[in-house]
Amino acid sequence: SGRLEGKVALISGGASGLGEAQAVLYAREGAKVLIGDLQEALGAAVVAKITDACGEAAFTRLDVTDLGSWQAAVALTVATFGKLTTLVNNAGIFHPGGIQAETPQGWDRMVAVNQTGVFYGMKAGAPELAKAGKGAAIVNISSLYGLIGSPDAISYHASKAAVRVMGKGAALEFVKQGVRVNTIFPGQIRTPILGDITPEQDAAIKASIPMGEVGDPMDIAHASLFLASDEARYITGAELWVDGGWYA
Ligand code: NAD
Repeated sequence: SGRLEGKVALISGGASGLGEAQAVLYAREGAKVLIGDLQEALGAAVVAKITDACGEAAFTRLDVTDLGSWQAAVALTVATFGKLTTLVNNAGIFHPGGIQAETPQGWDRMVAVNQTGVFYGMKAGAPELAKAGKGAAIVNISSLYGLIGSPDAISYHASKAAVRVMGKGAALEFVKQGVRVNTIFPGQIRTPILGDITPEQDAAIKASIPMGEVGDPMDIAHASLFLASDEARYITGAELWVDGGWYA
């Protein structure tokens, strides 16, 4: 039987990239998966991919910047699959811009999605996760950029650093309820989030990574699977970077 047998997971941003990979792998390992995303057509395609492989999944439109939307997604998860054991705060956006270039609007949007979105997710999910108790887990997707600085992406780095510290606080707040909270820090992974990059940029990225290659979404999914599974029952408040040696 699968490593997530008996789990019911809500995955934000599950219609694309790392969220899709986690949804597919979680379902393959026996979890029932509710995908929450703004992208309805892509989300439906991921559900079809999972159900075609005999997994169980459903989609709901979720805007992580809206607490009511989160509460509706949690309620739908429980109505559809009976409970919520696992919350993956994966949805996120990226745009570049240093302190001089970033606009107040750009800053606010970044914080709303990447930082407030994770706060709302944990706030909305906590009661049902606590009800599930032992075996429940939250996996938050930060970024290696949440651990380091850069001259040209101030709002992204700040929002991802906030995810790091919120995860530590949540681990301590929820430990008595049996809910574990851990954080993954992806390095450079091949997904749509970076937009179009030139072959020169691609070469520069690869050259900066000790393993010499960008990661695959499944590299993040496998780390997430472990942290969501009972194999990680004694791990909470932990930080796992998955980056080909970049941060070493
Ligand atoms: P992606 O763009 O492929 O997927 C992000 C998903 O989040 C999309 O489906 C998008 O529709 C969804 N989303 C965006 N705003 C939303 C909102 N308000 N409500 C609900 N859903 C929303 O990108 P990805 O690379 O798969 O990113 C997933 C997570 O991983 C993000 O948090 C990102 O910051 C993080 N990350 C990615 C990398 C990388 O190299 N790909 C590196 C570090 C961290």
